[in-house]
Amino acid sequence: MAAMQASSVLSTLEADGRRHWIDPKPSFGKLWRWRRAVAYILIAIFTLLPYITINSKPAILLDLSARRFTFFGKTFLPTDTLLMALLFVSLSVGIFLVTAVMGRLWCGWGCPQTVYMEFVYRPIERFFSGTPGRAKTAFQQSALAMVLKYALYVLVSCFLAHTFLAYFVGVERLVQWVQMSPAKHPTPFLVMAVTTGLMLFDFVYFREQTCIVACPYGRFQSVLLDRHSRIITYDRERGEPRGKAVKRAREVALPVVSGGRPAVGDCVDCKLCVTTCPTGIDIRNGLQMECVNCAQCIDACDAVMTRLNRPTGLIRYASEAAMEGEKPRLLRPRVVIYPAILVVLIAAFVVVLLRKADTDVNVLRGMGAPFSVLADSTVANQIKIKIVNRRDRAATYTAAARGAEGVRVSSEMLPITLEPGEMKTALAILAAPPSAFKDGTCVVEVVVSDGTKDVSVTSYRMMGPATGHHVESSR
Ligand code: SF4
Ligand code: SF4
Repeated sequence: MAAMQASSVLSTLEADGRRHWIDPKPSFGKLWRWRRAVAYILIAIFTLLPYITINSKPAILLDLSARRFTFFGKTFLPTDTLLMALLFVSLSVGIFLVTAVMGRLWCGWGCPQTVYMEFVYRPIERFFSGTPGRAKTAFQQSALAMVLKYALYVLVSCFLAHTFLAYFVGVERLVQWVQMSPAKHPTPFLVMAVTTGLMLFDFVYFREQTCIVACPYGRFQSVLLDRHSRIITYDRERGEPRGKAVKRAREVALPVVSGGRPAVGDCVDCKLCVTTCPTGIDIRNGLQMECVNCAQCIDACDAVMTRLNRPTGLIRYASEAAMEGEKPRLLRPRVVIYPAILVVLIAAFVVVLLRKADTDVNVLRGMGAPFSVLADSTVANQIKIKIVNRRDRAATYTAAARGAEGVRVSSEMLPITLEPGEMKTALAILAAPPSAFKDGTCVVEVVVSDGTKDVSVTSYRMMGPATGHHVESSR
């Protein structure tokens, strides 16, 4: 990685440890306009997703209390550990791949923190409090503007908090919550108030600190990137030694060459790339952890170069290797290995998903003695039949046993009815005549049916008397 920022103090900290408040001067260039278009599309998607239904289910619902996670019409239950693990590992590898190829593209273009901060909260702030670098209007200096700004912050944060919560509780429950009196239902009200408060704290006060201090992704970039990753970078070769335009004009009239290079580079040291940076860094110091790849410095510098009639792109999307004159290398070990891993993970996910039955059944050994002998001399094993109904409708299950003459299952809990996604465990007795046992065991099959078909057949090794002879009755 290139040299880190020269100062040992964070860009958002004063030397004495106080916070250095950053009020970036916006650069409304070409990339900013593209980012704004992408941001508004993403905001629309984020707002509408909880309302969209697929297979009569919300597109995304992360129901933590019921431990059911719905993604695009497919519901995952807590028993889907393997599927969930495959999904999240695939997502992580996908992020590794995108980062290896395109750097922190996600941070600058897609992350909700950047999208809402730069295209919702900052525009509100600039409308009511003025734009850095421009004179404030009389209204922007008034107390009314200040009050209106915070009122709008609260309103937007409240809306955002509701949208966010819709992903966790669903739209229907959210509407119920909104219609409830806070006095009658304090808990939902408290959840909404706290979430709104957190949004306000994040977007009005904490801001870039979330990216710099709280988000782990930026800290991983040094291991996720390589020299060929496309990042936002400053063309040191072309820009240095930096100097003012007027000085350069003098140099052009009277060229001074030092070591074969012009005495003054294209960077006029206007520092607009620094004052526009939302994390307050100077990209000319090389790749830094704080850089969220927002491309504001590109827009700022391109505007300066255009004014000076020089080629744009002094700061641009490029790899460190390309900046040092090497040929771009798309195929490199990590760019080959990550997709290969991704293909394997996605294939495994699809196979596991397709092989998932609509009912999960587990037959477990019960607590206590391994077996007992009933009044009718049959040998009984306590078992637990754990059933998960994965369908979208309720189902009633029964259990039977086969595999040995006279074997049977009895339980006061069977038949058992389960709601969609519900999991229950039925305690049952599995009984077989002593003659069925050989060397103290008897292998049978426990069959669970839903009234129309057998949904599971589980092989179960019953424990019994070693001799197969009569043992004293326990009941
Ligand atoms: S905006 Fe461009 S010219 Fe101005 S200081 Fe930054 S790199 Fe140099
Ligand atoms: S250095 Fe440039 S791309 Fe990085 S955060 Fe600052 S303005 Fe955005």
